[in-house]
Amino acid sequence: MSDAYDVVVIGGGPAGYPAAIRAAQNKLTVACIDEWKNRDGSYAFGGTCLNAGCIPSKALLESSELYVRAKEEFGTHGVKLGSIELDLAQMQKRRASIVKTMTGGIGALFKANGVVGISGHGRLLPGNQVLVKASDGSEKTLQAKDVILASGSAPIRLSTVPHDGELIVDSWDALEFDAVPRRLGVIGAGVIGLELGSVWRRLGSEVTVLEALPELLTFADQTIAKEAQRHFKKQGLDIKLGAKVARAVVKGSAVDVTYSDAQGEHTLQVDKLVAAVGRRPFTQDLLAEGTGVALDPRGFIQVDEHCRTGAAHVWAVGDVVRGPMLAHKGKEEGVMVADLIAGHYGDLNYKVIPSVIYTAPEIAWVGQTEEQVKASGRPYKVGVFPFAASGRARAMEAGQGMAKVIAAKDDDEVLGVHVIGPLAGELIAEAVLAMEYSASTEDIQRTIHAHPTLSEAIHEAALAADKKAIDAINR
Ligand SMILES: Cc1cc2nc3c(=O)[nH]c(=O)nc-3n(C[C@H](O)[C@H](O)[C@H](O)COP(=O)(O)OP(=O)(O)OC[C@H]3O[C@@H](n4cnc5c(N)ncnc54)[C@H](O)[C@@H]3O)c2cc1C
Repeated sequence: MSDAYDVVVIGGGPAGYPAAIRAAQNKLTVACIDEWKNRDGSYAFGGTCLNAGCIPSKALLESSELYVRAKEEFGTHGVKLGSIELDLAQMQKRRASIVKTMTGGIGALFKANGVVGISGHGRLLPGNQVLVKASDGSEKTLQAKDVILASGSAPIRLSTVPHDGELIVDSWDALEFDAVPRRLGVIGAGVIGLELGSVWRRLGSEVTVLEALPELLTFADQTIAKEAQRHFKKQGLDIKLGAKVARAVVKGSAVDVTYSDAQGEHTLQVDKLVAAVGRRPFTQDLLAEGTGVALDPRGFIQVDEHCRTGAAHVWAVGDVVRGPMLAHKGKEEGVMVADLIAGHYGDLNYKVIPSVIYTAPEIAWVGQTEEQVKASGRPYKVGVFPFAASGRARAMEAGQGMAKVIAAKDDDEVLGVHVIGPLAGELIAEAVLAMEYSASTEDIQRTIHAHPTLSEAIHEAALAADKKAIDAINR
């Protein structure tokens, strides 16, 4: 094997591995290096997303939701079960097996596309060389025409909440609990905190979420956020807003969490505490002196809109650069860069990146919130359609939530679509495509949607923006 490549990718997560595959599809020689090590000591491609993020969390969200539905909903359908028991060991085995299959799949994709996958650490040296310390202990230097940095992110650790991996844990640890904690504390009501809180609440924990901000989901459309808050409360998630955590201290087999809110200082005792206060770009031991790659004040690798760093032929993609920390954003950046390196067209529309929160009901959106549109001063109209009026949602026993379409009054362009309800994460794809093509509400209105489907909610919300909804009263 030659040590010279057209492209060397450092990091094999959802930003790095698609970059490697697309570069190989573009007939370039490619190596992709990744140092991810699982708890059992095995190396795996796939990064945070496949090993400790998107995929394992969704596996547990699905299983725990089925558990709740079996207990609380199946009777309504006329499906009678005997006593329902939780087999957490089996649930965790399934989660681990999905992760293993998915991460193993990357090896197969690399092979099929001719990407050389290397387990180990990569460090960028000046002159587009990459020093590799492989998992077998060997070291070598690769020469690359282009280097793509995709080293991802790591959880933010608070010194006042000292992580021990046992009682005070991060999101990865919280996906691998082998027993349901009786009392679970979660610091941070962001996407990760809400998803993990939901999993363990469904499985029986008393969950308290401490959020420093005075409102829930400040980054989402507030109509949707308020609706979500109502559902979370009903599900028994105790979300304390405006609660600033001062410290967490392990006391025997429990954790004392001290926080303050408008009423003063309080202490909450929990059996496990998950710190989910955000993630930071990960660049540890990634860049040697003199590479010319610069970091911004928050530690992200500085890039332009096409992910070029300040160093010639060095690119950076995914969580380690600005923008939302989302797997699909990183993937598209990786693909764009691999195309640009090969001399092809490559671009990414940062205005149309969907966000999804996989709670029940699910929450998904794309484009601007109503608050953002209002602040922009552009006259707008809003159409809302409740899932309570959707025959399919009713048939699914999921008639909660709504679809909301926001469009410009002047030229009818769709500016934002927000959904809280069944399979919102799937439904939002239609809105993403519509907005990618600068669709108007009229475009969606004139598009035939199959009946009865959940997607009719988007159709009806677009109609409602012009007070033309058929299956709901126009207001
Ligand atoms: C609990 C949780 C749930 C999430 N759920 C979702 C979701 O549902 N949808 C979504 O879009 N996003 C989700 N995310 C976020 C998503 O995981 C990240 O946005 C995504 O993984 C970023 O991809 P990346 O390739 O940039 O970085 P990463 O996935 O972090 O991958 C970077 C890889 O680079 C390796 N690496 C770093 N430095 C080096 C080096 N010097 N040498 C070799 N290898 C190196 C790391 O070991 C890692 O494998 C979730 C995150 C968490 C924690």
